[in-house]
Amino acid sequence: MRFFQPIRQIGYARTLAETRTHFPLSPGMISINQLEITEGYAAVIYVPFPPKFDDITKPDYSLDWILPEDKMDKYHSTKFQLTEQPFYPPFADESFIVNDFENYLDRFLTSSKLETAIFTLPISQINNPRFKEIMETECSLYILSGLTSLFSNQRRITETLVQLREMLSPDIALYAPGPISPSLYSFLVYMGIDFFDNSFAHYVSKNGYFLTEDQVYRQSIHPKCYCPHCIGLEPNLFKHNEMVIKNTLSRIRYSIERGIFRAQVEKDVHNNVSFAAALKRVDTHFNENLRRRTPMISSSPVKCIGEESFDRPLITEYRERVRDRYKPDPNSNLVILLPCSARKPYSFSRTHKFFHKAMRNAGKGVFKSLTELIITSPLSVVPRELEDIYPVKYYDIPVSGGWSEKEVKVTAELLNDVLSHFPKDTVIVNHTHGGGYEDIVEKFRTTSSFDIRDTAKDASPTSEKSLQRLTDTLIEIQQTKETDEQKGISSKIRKIQAVADFEYGLGAGEILFPYSVRIKGKYPRDQHVYKDKEHIATYVTKSGYLSLFPKPANLILSKTENILEFGAERVSGSNIYAPGVVHANTRIQPNDEIFIVHENRIIATATALVSGIDMNKMTSGIVAEVKKKVRSKK
Ligand SMILES: [Zn+2]
Repeated sequence: MRFFQPIRQIGYARTLAETRTHFPLSPGMISINQLEITEGYAAVIYVPFPPKFDDITKPDYSLDWILPEDKMDKYHSTKFQLTEQPFYPPFADESFIVNDFENYLDRFLTSSKLETAIFTLPISQINNPRFKEIMETECSLYILSGLTSLFSNQRRITETLVQLREMLSPDIALYAPGPISPSLYSFLVYMGIDFFDNSFAHYVSKNGYFLTEDQVYRQSIHPKCYCPHCIGLEPNLFKHNEMVIKNTLSRIRYSIERGIFRAQVEKDVHNNVSFAAALKRVDTHFNENLRRRTPMISSSPVKCIGEESFDRPLITEYRERVRDRYKPDPNSNLVILLPCSARKPYSFSRTHKFFHKAMRNAGKGVFKSLTELIITSPLSVVPRELEDIYPVKYYDIPVSGGWSEKEVKVTAELLNDVLSHFPKDTVIVNHTHGGGYEDIVEKFRTTSSFDIRDTAKDASPTSEKSLQRLTDTLIEIQQTKETDEQKGISSKIRKIQAVADFEYGLGAGEILFPYSVRIKGKYPRDQHVYKDKEHIATYVTKSGYLSLFPKPANLILSKTENILEFGAERVSGSNIYAPGVVHANTRIQPNDEIFIVHENRIIATATALVSGIDMNKMTSGIVAEVKKKVRSKK
């Protein structure tokens, strides 16, 4: 059994906890040879500081985890050993490391108690074929030696860390030793580093520098600090600097736990030019790797700061699902394009209330054949049915009004994909105005054969003139179109169908929720869906997603990828453990509602803790939390 258990995941970042007690330890700080222990450390490693080559011949060094006393009887262990170690100092010579590495591997693999041993991995050795043998052991903590040598090369640092994290199980922790500025921590944590140490505080303090979370100042001139280490009678520069490291890691852990970590990374990478480039590189080259590990079901605010937000994995995943999983109401042959609103859901905004009034003025029948698409940055296209889901209801962008060339292109393409599902005689009413909107619609117009009519071309969409034109245009279109009064389903059912497709897979909605289902409960409370008096699903208002009962979920087994094949015919307890996993679908994202399947039958529903890719790598620990179980027949 490994020592760590991932309990939260966003990209390669994880919060790791001690497996048996679930006490969180990472992202955390390891103190080097610091005898005075105060709160804020994850562990103390007893190696001399600074580490020297001579230390390599010394026997074992130990690392003590700082865990709460009252759970002492439950712990797996509290002490790790740096056995047979070469604790390669950051300045170790490459040739020395390579010569010694094979011998070290042999000695390490034959030593005892690997679950509490620390393995030293020089960054140059990650392609060594024998490294695989280490990954297969229960060793839970690797010291990643030499990482700082890649800091100025954004291509190598991203490729190396992605490669490493794709190889490793998420319950293996990486410790990057040596002096690393806290201003770089959030990016490195996002890329899968779990522990740093206080050596940076040692170095900068010795040389008379004063740290803040994003900068280094001379001790002689720096912003005044009011922490107890600075204002006391005996100011202590080292303690102040170390506190900055601890606070940085605490802030990172906080934002991972609250699901807002990615926005922090986007902000922090601007502390260093090559790290800003590195994030851009990860987003363009390895977007899918991060997407698979990014929760889609959440209710955390989505703060979009700058252009990095456009390629944020959450946003690219949203666009991909709209492209692949959104299919309009088959009765719809009239589309209205609308601008977004700052207030979410859009329907609650003043502007969208105006739009709806103008539509109603064209006669109630208009809604039977109508689809509303909201054009917005950075999500691009939001069908009205999906306005309540995460991240649509939760995103926030600074109002600048400007659309980049790339945003215009991506949005026009998605609009094209969405509209390709509509019949050829569909009329598109463009009720957007100016700037980026115009560029998008013009780009779309050049490739499209649809009849497109503009209703807000020369005045704002909320102006009386434009609203009247919207009503008139809709009346005119209805007169030329035949509408079948019998057709059309209620907008409430249509909405849960679209959410089901987005959440579980295309086609799931129609199977689960035919015309005859009944929906009980009123917004903002959760709504309950009944079929033939049986409660089959709950629509959770907060996240905007559904939760299914196991029995009806069997109907969509062929449509969904949220499947974990389980080795036993029953699930006992309230968790799914890694050894029970036969195979998890690699499309599963953390927080997804997943179906636990044995011999083609769903035996339980659960919430994924980590991605499906990572579930398949884990050999111990919890991978999902059970929601509902099928009662076994006696
Ligand atoms: Zn201070």
